Amino acid sequence: MRLATRLVLGTFTIVILTIVGLAWRSDQTIPAVVIIALAIALVVAWFAGRAIAQPLVVLSDAARDIAAGGTPRFPRSGIPEVDTLVEALRRMHRELGDRMVELQQERVGGGAVVDAMVEGVIASDARGIIVAANPAARRLLGYGPDARLPELPSLFRDKVARDAVWQVLAGREVHDCEFDRDGTVIAINARPVPGRGAVLVLHDLTELRRLEAVRRDFVANVSHELKTPLTSIAGYADTLTDAEIDPALRQKFVATILSNAHRMQRLVDDLLDLSLIESGRWSPAAQRIDVGLAIHDAWAPMREKAAARGAELAVSIAPDADRIWADPEALRQVLVNLADNALRYVPSGRGRVECSVERVGGGVTVSVADNGSGIARDHLPRVFERFYRVDPARSRDEGGTGLGLAIVRHLVEAHGGSVEAESELQVGTTVRCWFPDSPSGDS
Ligand code: ADP
Repeated sequence: MRLATRLVLGTFTIVILTIVGLAWRSDQTIPAVVIIALAIALVVAWFAGRAIAQPLVVLSDAARDIAAGGTPRFPRSGIPEVDTLVEALRRMHRELGDRMVELQQERVGGGAVVDAMVEGVIASDARGIIVAANPAARRLLGYGPDARLPELPSLFRDKVARDAVWQVLAGREVHDCEFDRDGTVIAINARPVPGRGAVLVLHDLTELRRLEAVRRDFVANVSHELKTPLTSIAGYADTLTDAEIDPALRQKFVATILSNAHRMQRLVDDLLDLSLIESGRWSPAAQRIDVGLAIHDAWAPMREKAAARGAELAVSIAPDADRIWADPEALRQVLVNLADNALRYVPSGRGRVECSVERVGGGVTVSVADNGSGIARDHLPRVFERFYRVDPARSRDEGGTGLGLAIVRHLVEAHGGSVEAESELQVGTTVRCWFPDSPSGDS
């Protein structure tokens, strides 16, 4: 039998027995006996009530502590019903703690994922007040990590973006809404969260759009480069179909056709080289090379052209830089392209092209310098781009494809090296190619 029941039953038994026992003796004593019995019953009931109530009070304090997230103190009552309650509350407290830890971990994990995302993520409440924005979103929109963000409708200046915000706050989804913010191309995708606000995802499309523009320009450039010689070939070939044509003229037309065909061939060869290097299918088979020998071999076929222009080809190699770690064929192509350019721009009869080699910071620099017309300051940073020419007509007339320096840059960079150009108008140009030593220190 439970303690509370025992207490109550015990109290009633004492009271009944006392009343009955005293009632036998005298009728006059009954009221006094009843009062005494009731007093005893009250005292016993008070103790019994206290024994039950006390742990319940502690238990309700414990429940309050749990609700407030504090550390509860659980009572020890000895009353089985109360103990069962205490145990249930204790278990609930334990499970609540575990759940809180799980939630915390999930929240931290989820937050870390959102923070690490490349896409910008912004969450706002239904009024457009921003409640969360990850670092990528701040970076894309030009806000520092601690800067206060305005409300969503004022976050964007661009009309397209503002319309997108109003749309999502009105409960409609937004798909790939693209706009330009100070040169950064951003696409917004947004979703309303019913009753709670909206989530916006921002994608940085700048690099993608730039690459698309490069590809468009490339196709346009190649088409243009091919169109001119092809038109010329077609025109002269058409004229040659006339049987009456003067033999000397015929010879001249054939020569023009041949020269244009060679130009197309050079262009296609350069394009194939460039696409091979850029595709990543080619990597340099570097080896230790005698740099003096490499320059001699590469420039041997150019000596005739240099002599025709009255230009001098010179070489100077620092004693500690006579060996270079490079792919022999790539180094040959670099030397040929640079000398070819230099010879094209040096003044007739007094041109000088010099290749100097020296050790620079853990590698070897091969520089080709000329005393030619030079490159204007604003063109200089772009000469390593594909098809970039300072004077397109002159370059074409002299057999240039506009790809020579782009190929040089790719070849050198494939070795882990770097290129730079320095120039002064009417003084000359120097192109430097730095090749790092072999990782194992063989060079
Ligand atoms: P191209 O086939 O036209 O020479 P490159 O890529 O080799 O193409 O060179 C790009 C442009 O850089 C050239 O058209 C020319 O305007 C300029 N350039 C390159 N090398 C020299 C140089 N040594 N002197 C003057 N200009 C040069």
